[in-house]
Amino acid sequence: MNTGLMKYLVCPQCQGALELQIFKKAGDVIEEGIIICNNCQLWFPIIQSVPRILHPQILVRMVKKYDDFFHKYRQEIPFAHRNYRQTHLPDNSPVALTYDYGWTTYPELLPEYKREFVHVLDDLLDTDDFRGKVILDAGCGMGRFTLFAWERGAREIVGFDLGESVLTAQNRTLKNFPNAHLLQADIYYLPFKADFDLIYSIGVIHHLIEPEQGVKNLVGLVKSGGKIFLWVYGYSGIKHFLDLLRFFTLRLPLPWVRALSIFPALVLYSINALYRTVSRIPLFKHFVKYIPFQQYADRSFRGIRWIALDHLTVPIIHYFREKELRQWLNHFPLKDTKISCRYPGRLGRSWRVYGRVTNPPKADLSSNEKNMI
Ligand SMILES: [Zn+2]
Repeated sequence: MNTGLMKYLVCPQCQGALELQIFKKAGDVIEEGIIICNNCQLWFPIIQSVPRILHPQILVRMVKKYDDFFHKYRQEIPFAHRNYRQTHLPDNSPVALTYDYGWTTYPELLPEYKREFVHVLDDLLDTDDFRGKVILDAGCGMGRFTLFAWERGAREIVGFDLGESVLTAQNRTLKNFPNAHLLQADIYYLPFKADFDLIYSIGVIHHLIEPEQGVKNLVGLVKSGGKIFLWVYGYSGIKHFLDLLRFFTLRLPLPWVRALSIFPALVLYSINALYRTVSRIPLFKHFVKYIPFQQYADRSFRGIRWIALDHLTVPIIHYFREKELRQWLNHFPLKDTKISCRYPGRLGRSWRVYGRVTNPPKADLSSNEKNMI
């Protein structure tokens, strides 16, 4: 991380100001340190240059993994977490762990990702929504969309993810981008000021335990007049077929499912090879529309394997109907709301959701407060 991130952060527990204590630095990059709240004394480690701003109940799981860090700085971190609220946060860690495996297995920036970014966003957002703006990428994974948003001219961009895939984002995808900030954070325990011109979340909300609460928390961080954009899975018949496969695959070790994913990937890739061939023959042009899954026609085989692995291993998937998304939008202080369908009428359809924030509420703590023990 670099110090530029600090101006966007507040304590996720008390909204107090945070202070940076640097233990190790290389040039402008802070490699090790802590971020501490001056008000409630909660602290968060910076390990391998990534701030880990997570609830102490989740942070404690990190102690064993990063034993070296905690041992090395045992003098500088002189106290255990004491003042934190015991809360019952929705725990999305199993999803994050699955994606940690997926993004470690498929960390490369495939050429189709940029086409996907454009296709997902360009119906409802344009270049001016990025140029010169301060942007939050909610659930950034390995940082592919953070990079593309940055390339559209963002002034500064912050990407967070619950999982350790942010390490890939930082060390690989967005290496040497000083105004792109990455951190580990939780959508149910957000450490940000309401200071963003645009918040987008692509392919994340449908994997949350409590999706509407996650969206509510994001809406609360958009500046008045700023925009929020979501891309989520839509309900279609493929859900039932996938549920059947997932009944088995969710019970298998991840490397096994990775090995098995070659079979559905071969089927999908073959269907798309058929689509590419048939769509070039004028005689068949009326039949082309009946070929399923043609949305994957421009994908590499490796990209399709990753899609198969993703769908077969991630423990939570919601498929939304338009009506449900409309109800959400009515609950939030948004105007100019729009919902557009990606691949209408097809298996695997999805939704783009957009709104302009009129009067953002303060960052939502109500669910935490309610659940205080
Ligand atoms: Zn605090």
